[in-house]
Amino acid sequence: MNYEGIVYRPPSEARSLIIQVTIGCAHNTCTFCNMYKAKKFRIRKMEEIMADLEEAAAGPFASYIQRVFLADGDALVMKTENLLEILAAVKRLFPQVTRVASYGTAQDILRKSEEELTALRKAGLGIVYVGAESGDNEILAYIQKGVTAEEVIAAGQKLKRCGIHTSVTLISGLGGRERVARHAISCAKLISRMNPEYASFLTLRLYEGTPMYADVVEGRFQRITPDEIVEEMETFLQNVDSPGTVFRTNHASNYVVLAGTLNEDIPAMLEKLRNVKKTQHYRVFRETGDLL
Ligand code: SF4
Repeated sequence: MNYEGIVYRPPSEARSLIIQVTIGCAHNTCTFCNMYKAKKFRIRKMEEIMADLEEAAAGPFASYIQRVFLADGDALVMKTENLLEILAAVKRLFPQVTRVASYGTAQDILRKSEEELTALRKAGLGIVYVGAESGDNEILAYIQKGVTAEEVIAAGQKLKRCGIHTSVTLISGLGGRERVARHAISCAKLISRMNPEYASFLTLRLYEGTPMYADVVEGRFQRITPDEIVEEMETFLQNVDSPGTVFRTNHASNYVVLAGTLNEDIPAMLEKLRNVKKTQHYRVFRETGDLL
């Protein structure tokens, strides 16, 4: 398997076979993100992708592979005909696979027609992980996400119409001290309108070399405290209305682990937040010179 550079995948894809179909991220301008800064974006050649799939199929663990994750940052940027060829190869080589997943930007999803997305779903694409980050257009512009909240919502609704599950990621603290409530309420509106199958929050962590890291060090952006993160999450949960969405804050960056189903588990999650704030039993993170 010819992996190039550091390969990222969502926590829920920990047991998946990871196949890099692109290298890096076609967008690669988000000011908080350092994941693909060392990679120059390119779509891999089909023969390289097929060779990786054949190699995995010939390996000793082939029959245990249940899920496949197409990396890197936004596999959906590929032409649909090529994605369909890859999905057909997955089906042929690993007939037991139950789900293929990828990251996808709102831009890529909106660029594809509903016929294309439906064809991808029928070929095995079961879930797309969308990094929405915030539902507030000012925050999205500040982080140079390249899309508006309305476009992210439209992309999620399109995936839903085409039968592809969506997992939406948001970032706690992304609005800084100036926009705590605004960020929380906008995220709640975004999730309510998308009604994705899964939604989660990470907490803002910044690596040296990113523009946002410099903003913090030079005083242009004030990060919020764990207590304020909890208040932001309380505001989110008090405003969200997305029945059936599986909700998690269980990433390594989160100060408080929450797990439940919206809307039914909102009271229990609010109760947990109140208790953690009272006892100050936050998960602790190590800040270093190059990680805030
Ligand atoms: S956050 Fe996602 S879209 Fe933005 S640069 Fe990073 S990988 Fe690309």
